[in-house]
Parts: sequence; C-alpha cells; structure tokens
Amino acid sequence: MQMSQEVLGQFRRKRLLIAVVVSALVLILTLAFRFMEEKGRIEQQSRTFADNAIQRFDRLFSPLDVAASNTLGLVGLPCEQVRFPLIEKLASLQTVRSIVLVDNDSMYCSSIFGAGDRQFSAIYPELAINNQRMMLSTDQYLLKGSPILLLWTPHDNANRSGILQTINIEMMSNYLLEPTLPWVERAVFNVGGKSLEYGNPMIEEAFPSDDEVSYEKASLRYPFTITLFGPSPSRLALSTLPSQLPLALLLSLLMAYIVWLATANRMSLSWQISYGITAREFMVYCQPLINSKTGDCNGIELLLRWHNPRQGWIPPDVFIPLAERQNLIAPLTRFVLREVVRQLPQMPACPSFHIAINVAASHFHNREIIDDLQRLWWPANPVPQLVVELTERDSLPEVDQRVVTHLHKIGVKLAIDDFGTGHSSLSYLKTLSPDVLKIDKVFTASIGTDAINATVTDMVISLAQRLNIGLVAEGVETAEQAVYLREKGVDVLQGYFYARPMPLSDFPKWLSEHKLTLAI
Ligand code: C2E
Ligand code: CA
Ligand code: CA
Repeated sequence: MQMSQEVLGQFRRKRLLIAVVVSALVLILTLAFRFMEEKGRIEQQSRTFADNAIQRFDRLFSPLDVAASNTLGLVGLPCEQVRFPLIEKLASLQTVRSIVLVDNDSMYCSSIFGAGDRQFSAIYPELAINNQRMMLSTDQYLLKGSPILLLWTPHDNANRSGILQTINIEMMSNYLLEPTLPWVERAVFNVGGKSLEYGNPMIEEAFPSDDEVSYEKASLRYPFTITLFGPSPSRLALSTLPSQLPLALLLSLLMAYIVWLATANRMSLSWQISYGITAREFMVYCQPLINSKTGDCNGIELLLRWHNPRQGWIPPDVFIPLAERQNLIAPLTRFVLREVVRQLPQMPACPSFHIAINVAASHFHNREIIDDLQRLWWPANPVPQLVVELTERDSLPEVDQRVVTHLHKIGVKLAIDDFGTGHSSLSYLKTLSPDVLKIDKVFTASIGTDAINATVTDMVISLAQRLNIGLVAEGVETAEQAVYLREKGVDVLQGYFYARPMPLSDFPKWLSEHKLTLAI
C-alpha cells in the first residue's frame, strides 16, 4: 500500500514538474514574444516618423525647386529689371526668406537688398566649390543668428551662376520634426555635416546622449537626412513588460492547468498500463507449488511482472488494484493466458500438474472469463489442470454464480486467494464452492510468532478439511512453517523457502534441477 502511494506520488510529482516546466516556458515565451513585438513596433514607429518627415520636407522643397528653375532665365539680366519679378516670386513662396541671383560668381541681385556684388564662391564655397546643392547656415543679414537653409540651383555646370534661395528652415523643422515620445526624443535635420535640431536654433552637430540610440534616414530627392534620437527600442520594450506580466501569467497558468489535465491521462498509471500491454513491458513469472508430503512440485502460480522502462519494476500490488479499477485487468489476464499457452509445450504434460492463474472478479462479468478461456486456453488442448484464483480483494459477492458453475463444469478448479483476510469469508465457501483455499502469507508468517493469527490459521485448516476443500499455504519462508503446515495436513506449500517467483521460461530448468534434488 505504501509502495503504491509512493509510485502514485512519483507520477503526480512528474506531472507537476511537467506542468511547472510548461508553465514557465509559456511565461518566458509569452514575455519574449511580447518583447519582440513591442520592440518591432517601436522600431517601426521610428521608421514611420523619419519617412513622414522626409516626405514632407521633400514636398516642401519641390515647389522651391520648380520656382528656381523657372527663375533661372532671369540670371544675367540687370538687377533693376528682375528685382520686381523676384519679389513677386518670393511672395508666392512662404518658406523662402530671400532669392539671390548669382552670375559669374557674383551675387549681384537680392530680392531683399537689391543690387550688390558679393563673391559667391568666397561666401559659400560649399555650394560653389564643393558642389553642394543645400547648405545649413546662420542668417547674417535679415534675422541675424537664425538658422537658414540655402538651396542652390546652378544655371550651368560651371556652378558659378544660378539661383540661391534662403529657406526659413527653423519654421519648417518646428512644424515637421516635433518629437513623438517616448520613442523619438529628439529629431534632427542634417545637411552636409551640419545639423538643426528641433527646439534648438543653433546649427551644430547632434550626438546621441549616453542612454540614447540614433536612427538615420536619407531623402532620395534632396541631399538631407533625418536623424532620430531616443531610448533604445529594447529598453523601451523591456519597460512595457511589467504591464504584460498579468496576462502572460494568466496564460501560463492556463497552460499549466491544461497540461495537468492532459497528462492526467497520458501520465497516469492506467495509461501506462495500457501502453505497457502493447509495448510488451509485462512478463509472466511463476512460483512453484510444492506437495507438502512428497516435496514434489505439482503446479505453479502465474504472477505478473511489469518492467516499465521509465519507472523500473512496478510491483503488482501497485498496478493490479489500479488495473482492476480501470478495467484493464482483463487484458492483462488474457496476456497471462496467451503467454502460458505459448509455453505450454515446455510444461509437464500431466493432469495432476496445476497451473494457477489469478483472475479478478470483474473478469467474471458477462461470462467474459469463460469466453477468454474458450478462445485462448482450450484451443491449446492443455493437459495440466487450470486453477482460477479469485482474491478476496475483489468484490467476491459480485461474482456471478452461474459463471462459477460453468467453470466447474468445464473442468476448471476455483481457489479463493488470501483466504481469511477479507470480510465474511465463510459465506463464500457456500456460494462459490471453491476447490482450494489459499491461506494468506500473513497467517503463515504468524506460525510460532502470533498466537491469534496462528489460531485463525488452525481454524481455516480444519474448516477446509471438514468441507473437503484443498489447502495451499502461501508465503512459506522457513522450514519451521513448512513442517508445521505439513503436520497440520496442508497439502500444498508455496513460498520463498522453496522457490522465489521466476520467469515462466526458467521454470522447466528449475523443475529439472528440483527433481534432481529430490532424487538425491
Ligand atoms: P497473490 O496472488 O497472493 O500472490 C502471492 C504473492 O506472494 C506474490 O506476490 C508472491 O511473489 C508473494 N510471495 C510468494 N512467496 C512468498 C514468501 O515466501 N514470502 C513473501 N513475503 N511473499 C511471497 P506478487 O507477485 O508481488 O503479487 C502480489 C499480488 O498481485 C498477488 O498476490 C496477486 O493478488 C496479484 N497478482 C499478481 N499477478 C497477477 C495476475 O496475473 N492477475 C491478477 N489478477 N492478480 C495478480
Ligand atoms: Ca494468487
Ligand atoms: Ca495470496
């Protein structure tokens, strides 16, 4: 019983372990998945922010481009003649602060200041010499110190004549680069190594702070890039995890519960028994029955053994009661029958040789045992005497008496196993008319040690003798017990004193040696 609790406890612990592992895995995977998802979302948001800003800058620059191209025809004309059209153009372009005409490296006409003569390549070498089309700078003339963007549209390849537009970039950037917290903390507009950051009117290079990462994207149409600074997406995603925890925990607990329920079946002993039958994990052992007077072996009791590759040897005391409860005992008994029939040719072919098989009371329902014997035992034309051992552990009152009668009719002997350990044993003597009583090993063990049980043993013996019922004493471990039982007239003895249960296939060899011992 203790053993059975232990084995069942082991199964429960294993199930629990699997449920805990699965639940931990689900928790980790859910959080990891949410983390990756959140990180991806944040990265995507930064990308979208940069794409949108670039698209809008492009859209603002493109009419300026068109306007400059349309104005190129004015380059070279005298300033008094072109100034008014220039002012008109300026009025139509809200983001442009001034337009300057450049001819032969001379900035000779400004929409604001009129005619002049400043050397273009000396003031803006980046545009004239470095061939930049855009340049970030600081206004020196109109709104002094404010950031400006110069858009240079050259007239020819010489790059010394063209249109120079001064763009009010601060207004644009205030409008287009407003950060979106938390993933974009700072947004910067860069042209040719110079930068203008949202909220900062200074033109200077922008660097990420210690806990920031940057993301840069370039316009395909104009020579500028947008850089975004913000916390790393991983850090941001990590900070959202605590809010995901309750849901992830709920999911993992749910999974643990499902696994617990699912394994109830697969991990249960009963599932393993059914699996073990198909996987041929069961074996049939036998224990010799010894004639107490002659010492001859005049039979065997078949005993099941289960070697489970995952659990090792599982004692019958654990799996038999469970198999009985789960309606798996009949398939096990059929297995025993098949095995003994298979090895019948190696057994003594003599009618006085008994082959005892343990059968559960439930197997008597609907004459199932009779059908099985008809199908598995009789077709083998067995010579030995079949004995069916019914244990009191079963609900013996449920045994269908008609089946018992039928068994007797077809020549099968009936033994009541573990006699004296169950309830109202005496009544079965009448209802089942057994041929044999098996004295339980508890009573055998009591010989010479336990007065009360020894008295019961004596009573069982004399009861059987009066009713002319055969007696088998189980659990004979000492010579003293053997002598006592023989003297009391018990016909058959079984126990470690004679032989321990052995594989059925080993029995013929044991028997030949046993005969030899007798012969000596
Ligand atoms: P059981 O039918 O009373 O079988 C006798 C048990 O006593 C066997 O235990 C046997 O190994 C053990 N035994 C034999 N000699 C001695 C001894 O000298 N000392 C002690 N202490 N024990 C001895 P086992 O094989 O562990 O089987 C336990 C029980 O499991 C059996 O008790 C029987 O009720 C059940 N069982 C075994 N095989 C089958 C089977 O094929 N079908 C059914 N229905 N029950 C089975
Ligand atoms: Ca038995
Ligand atoms: Ca027994």
